Amino acid sequence: MSDRMVLRVKGRVLAGPDDVRDELWAVDGRITYERPVGVRDVPVVHGWALPGLVDAHCHVGLDRHGPVDEATSEKQALTDREAGTLLIRDAGSPSDTRWIDDRDDLPKIIRAGRHIARTRRYIRNYAHEIEPGDLVAYVAREARRGDGWVKLVGDWLDRETGDLGACWPRGEVEAAIAQAHRLGARVTAHCFAEESLRDLVEAGIDCIEHATGLTEDTIPLFAERGVAIVPTLVNIATFPHLADGGEAKFPRWSAHMRALHARRYDTVRAAYDAGVPVFVGTDAGGSLAHGLVADEVAELVKAGIPAIDALSATAWGARRWLGRPLLEEGAPADLVVYDEDPRADVRVLAAPRWIILNGRIVSG
Ligand SMILES: [Zn+2]
Repeated sequence: MSDRMVLRVKGRVLAGPDDVRDELWAVDGRITYERPVGVRDVPVVHGWALPGLVDAHCHVGLDRHGPVDEATSEKQALTDREAGTLLIRDAGSPSDTRWIDDRDDLPKIIRAGRHIARTRRYIRNYAHEIEPGDLVAYVAREARRGDGWVKLVGDWLDRETGDLGACWPRGEVEAAIAQAHRLGARVTAHCFAEESLRDLVEAGIDCIEHATGLTEDTIPLFAERGVAIVPTLVNIATFPHLADGGEAKFPRWSAHMRALHARRYDTVRAAYDAGVPVFVGTDAGGSLAHGLVADEVAELVKAGIPAIDALSATAWGARRWLGRPLLEEGAPADLVVYDEDPRADVRVLAAPRWIILNGRIVSG
């Protein structure tokens, strides 16, 4: 046995939706399909292997009250890892979680910096709360601080109208998105309602989080521009509870939230049918628990997305969208192995057998 760290994965390696191999090797943390020479007594794991799952809307370093300490952030990241999430797109965090990049036992994170919201128009302690005149400067700042994404809060309760309302004028948001693009960052926005969507897409936005307000008016626009959505259905499930809480003070807002919730599956299905790219995100880290990736995939299937595409939304497709490798030669050996075929039933995702990160078994 050499000094190299070697692991063999046998069974069905689901390298792509139509690319199934019999085995792969992890050598010194990297994938190879060529049997390494001169190694013996290599540990072997068996099963159906997927690339490490993607949670494209997750918050590490945050809880319902705001930023948390490093021990809590570590626990969050470990909980995601145990669920098979090995790549996180962090959709906004006030904490500095850069130290996680030096830990080869924790999921990889693509950060969107800190949320950028309108003054008093978001959850307390989360966001930079600013006015439109400062939007370009803050977007530039977070574009430099993040890993290729910037996160806006596109709509929120407007206390004056008592309903959800758009947060940014078209001109400012268009300038801000152009600035992010010049700096090499993509922009996404939290949007529950209908109102802000057309302006944001026409302003050049790359993705919308939640996107419960999509309608037959805006879905074709998203499809035409290739603007992705991350529905976070496990979070949308909490809308009726939120609506109950706000009923006395903001009845219009409550009714709106209930209506968006009631049509959530139809909305996601219609977007998918029109060709809008849909990705898995759990919104863990605010009020939601970490580790819900399998539940979100199951929700997308419940909405009517075929199992193979719901799987791709957390596996192959999501990785391509984020510019990260699949199970390919030379890529980091980040994979999750299951006892059964997740393509046949996505509920298999709820019980990973082996979790392998940088070529090392971290769970199983
Ligand atoms: Zn979120």
